[in-house]
Amino acid sequence: MGQQAIGHIDGVVPGEVFSSRMEMKNANLHSDVRRGISRLKDSDSSYVADAIVLNGGYEDDDDDWTSVKYTGASPDDEKDGTKLLKSQSWEYRDNAALKLSFDRGYPIRIFRGPKGDRRYSLPNSYRYDGLYKITAAHDATAKSPAPDGTPITICQFILERLPDPEQELTPAERQIAEVLVQQEELLDVEATTVDDESGGTTSAEDGEAKPPATRVSRVQRIVRDPATVRRIKALYDHECQLCGLRLVGPDGKPYSEGAHIKPLGKPHNGPDVERNILCLCPNCHVRLDIGAVLIEEDWLIVVRTGMFGENLRTKLKMHRRHKVHQEYVEYHREWWISHGPRHEPTESAM
Ligand SMILES: [Zn+2]
Repeated sequence: MGQQAIGHIDGVVPGEVFSSRMEMKNANLHSDVRRGISRLKDSDSSYVADAIVLNGGYEDDDDDWTSVKYTGASPDDEKDGTKLLKSQSWEYRDNAALKLSFDRGYPIRIFRGPKGDRRYSLPNSYRYDGLYKITAAHDATAKSPAPDGTPITICQFILERLPDPEQELTPAERQIAEVLVQQEELLDVEATTVDDESGGTTSAEDGEAKPPATRVSRVQRIVRDPATVRRIKALYDHECQLCGLRLVGPDGKPYSEGAHIKPLGKPHNGPDVERNILCLCPNCHVRLDIGAVLIEEDWLIVVRTGMFGENLRTKLKMHRRHKVHQEYVEYHREWWISHGPRHEPTESAM
């Protein structure tokens, strides 16, 4: 792979997993195997940051997937575990680099490690979770004071995840986007030909740089099968976690769908992480998406609308290496209880 750079690294898409920090460093995704903040030299030779790792570094960190509160760095002798012994400095090399990336509007690659927020993290590896934009860099007061009781000031960064159309496309997504671009250009040409009776067709221009955002998000809706989803499907060998069905196509290949319990995108902003994904058959995917089934705290499956000719499991099947997080099924339950088909109160009999 090429060299360290700001933003996308060719061939690395969100959801990709790395077994160690060394593997990330070798892929030019992070400059260091220990530090949270990765630095590189900008064109004017000053250091900027290009990546950070969320791995339970400080107690003042807060990860909400789309929005992240990140605590800057301190030298080893100024901290004790996740607690700081003295205030942080904007002059410290890593903080200065991340601050300069904020000033210059550079995107930051975020990796989540095994010690990060348990709602997102994988047990033993690091996952690339896409590009984030730094929206603020300011002083904040740490939760814990210094050992002598005086308050500690931290360098706090706020990062917001860039919308999906601005994240790197998977090869399948890119292929379909290109086909769509060609089709639409073809339609444009036909439209021009109809208007222009002289018959001179305008040739479509080549260099179709990057497909516009609307088209990209349409493509992602069609072929959303990120690395995270593929891993969950493989774990269950395509067997539906709700009904046990394992569909096999005429080509002998099994078919299943990856369903996000807390949906991706607005207004839900669910994370694209293993603990938020189920392996389902197409019918059960729809059932989940329209709130026809809910999942209780003890993983019991509750059917809310009548179904004929099919039996669901009583309990959600879960592989020992896949722990769905309670927060997502709870979100799904509460959403559908407040937005689902209402049971209109029956008019009281006269
Ligand atoms: Zn099913």
